[in-house]
Amino acid sequence: MKKLRKGDDIAYPEPTEQRRRLMSRVKSRNTSPELKVRKLLHAMGYRFRLHKCDLPGTPDIVFGPLKKAIFVHGCFWHRHDGCRKTTTPTTRREFWVSKFQANVLRDERKMHELKEIGWDVMVVWECESEAPTLARHLTRFLRRSARKHRRRVERG
Ligand SMILES: [Zn+2]
Repeated sequence: MKKLRKGDDIAYPEPTEQRRRLMSRVKSRNTSPELKVRKLLHAMGYRFRLHKCDLPGTPDIVFGPLKKAIFVHGCFWHRHDGCRKTTTPTTRREFWVSKFQANVLRDERKMHELKEIGWDVMVVWECESEAPTLARHLTRFLRRSARKHRRRVERG
């Protein structure tokens, strides 16, 4: 393939079929990191719902009675800060940068909306989905529900 130089963007008209397919993967379901997290949660004895589309941002894993939601985010698309997977393509850089910014802003907005309606939210990054510490983090997050009870007690 011809090497691209700055200003050569014009050689790439509007999103190609390949890029469209890539982009449509931004909100893909049942990705492999997500399956790993689900499998781990099952092994830990937790039961949950998937992809609740009546909640802001359609969280990937939902614990209804606990009012807790988990997003499993791909590091590249959702821009995991400081992660080696968070690269930026060198061609059509501006296109990608604005695309990524939109993703990050949307994530922030959806998580904020969830919290506003009383949900506790956790993000598991793709690169953490196999980390040995993940089970501990999940447990800590899911047990935080005790706080709700405490608050109720405190209010009397
Ligand atoms: Zn990452």
